[in-house]
Amino acid sequence: MTGGNRGIGLEVCRQLAATGLRVILTARDPGRAEAAARDLRKDGLDVAAETLDVTDEASIRALSQRIEVDVLVNNAAIIVREGATMIGTAIDDLRTTFETNVFGAVAVALAFVPGMVARRYGRVVNVSSGAGQLSTMTTYAPAYSMSKAALNAFTRLLAEETRRNGVLVNSVDPGWVRTRMGGSSAPRSVEQGADTIVWLATLPAKGPTGGFFRDKRQIDW
Ligand code: NAP
Repeated sequence: MTGGNRGIGLEVCRQLAATGLRVILTARDPGRAEAAARDLRKDGLDVAAETLDVTDEASIRALSQRIEVDVLVNNAAIIVREGATMIGTAIDDLRTTFETNVFGAVAVALAFVPGMVARRYGRVVNVSSGAGQLSTMTTYAPAYSMSKAALNAFTRLLAEETRRNGVLVNSVDPGWVRTRMGGSSAPRSVEQGADTIVWLATLPAKGPTGGFFRDKRQIDW
């Protein structure tokens, strides 16, 4: 789990651990990772903390050399310049956003998925957004929307390459959720936001791959 210290990521850690999985909760700040994992362990859940900044390749490499995972949830993301127009978007806004939301997620997957392929089991959940849905795309945050559309393209490509190796790769829109990113007026709780992510992370062998899901239903790209 990337970005597991708060928001939807923290709740996904809780729900995944409740299914009996050993969860590696990662966060870019070591103290926050440990504090979040400690809280979950108080509830009897099997959760370990690790430091991972998805924009830091050395940090990704160091972790992937030490641990193997069967399930990867690419959750960490940022949103910059909400309310900007496409024309008013600076290239640096795109660069900053893509660094975390696209290159970060891709780098983490490329570090951990080869092990899944070798072991012939893996589940990758790329936490995308309705804002990245090309068929209905609006410009409330153009850099963010473009980054999530690119993440969805990565889902398709990775799924196609790994589908014969027991690895299922899907994108998910958690809906509009009350977190620091979603704000307090969002209609959904973190529990609701985590639900489909956890479902995709624990799909059976014959489960879907290469899809985009909301509320456990496939949606348009
Ligand atoms: P959030 O509360 O803002 O949490 C974002 C998480 O990402 C934090 O843990 C943050 O860590 C982490 N993060 C950011 N940059 C990172 C980096 N470079 N390395 C590692 N971790 C990093 O957001 P959220 O609402 O839970 O969002 C979770 C996912 O759901 C995101 O992919 C988001 O795009 C998606 N989503 C959310 C909504 C919504 O309404 N909330 C809607 C659609 C999609 P720090 O604490 O260190 O900043």
